[in-house]
Amino acid sequence: MKTNLIKDLICLKCKNNHFHLIERTYDDIEIREGYLECNNCGQKYQIKRGILNTLTDFMVETIRKERNAHKSKNHLTELEKKLYFTEKYILGLPKKGYHPIRPDLWRKTSENFEFLFSKLIQLSINERILDVGTGTCWTSNLFALKGCSVVAIDIDEDIYTGLRSSEIYFASKLSIYFERILGDVCQLPFMNDTFDIVFAHSSIHHAYSLETAVLESARVLRKAGTIIYVADPVVGIYQFFKSKDKNFENAVELGVNETRPSLIRLLRAFRKAKLTPRFYFAKSGYDKMQKALIPQWLSNILIYPILILRGGGVNIIAKKKQYLLISLG
Ligand SMILES: [Zn+2]
Repeated sequence: MKTNLIKDLICLKCKNNHFHLIERTYDDIEIREGYLECNNCGQKYQIKRGILNTLTDFMVETIRKERNAHKSKNHLTELEKKLYFTEKYILGLPKKGYHPIRPDLWRKTSENFEFLFSKLIQLSINERILDVGTGTCWTSNLFALKGCSVVAIDIDEDIYTGLRSSEIYFASKLSIYFERILGDVCQLPFMNDTFDIVFAHSSIHHAYSLETAVLESARVLRKAGTIIYVADPVVGIYQFFKSKDKNFENAVELGVNETRPSLIRLLRAFRKAKLTPRFYFAKSGYDKMQKALIPQWLSNILIYPILILRGGGVNIIAKKKQYLLISLG
């Protein structure tokens, strides 16, 4: 963590934004070890290996369970972990990713990400981005490579699955840097109006409260800033008549929080945050149909009845047009 991040932080206990550093050690780039202490209530936040921990005293039960599910990593065999949890694997993401249950997941992920930033969003080099639920940090790394100033936040600090994977990216290219915070999307430790973009790659459906996650994303976003939630599921009426999704049920059983909202619930959550979202099919079967048969304007209309009836994976983009009157307290 660098010292210039401190001015953007708030204390999760008392919402004050004045801190001082104690017992700190630095390297050439950042504060590596130490504590950030709130000047008002004395709450301490540890900095370990450069990662600021805002979870310790503010961890809700659902996150504790989800962290344990991540740590057990029992969807991968020991052999798979040896084969895939390597520097080469992390540096090859997203294109060369591996998933034991859905072999085409990373290919689709990579195509969808490319589609998003070539067709839907133009990134400028000085955007300030909060990357929520960054996991292995591959998205944070790509934004940093584009010259953006990035803060990565996740509930997992481990290497190969969580925030410490950043060490591999930093070692691969000396000019690469982004901030890493261990934290919860429903309690973001930032001042209002801090980021140009709040980005979440396939992670908002893991928040224990979708509504709070959207409100918090909107709160920390600057006016005219953009929320970009990528590859999140929307459930349609059809799914109630379909046999149950085994992958989904296994993940829930492991302790992973999975929210499958309807389009109506998503629209309500955004409206509560005074945002009007636009929905785009994530790269999938529907996207092929969209590309081959129907023009974009028609797809923009058809997506609503299709999502209500059939559901599907979506990219959601919402601009903040006004300041939110949300109290920090
Ligand atoms: Zn405090």
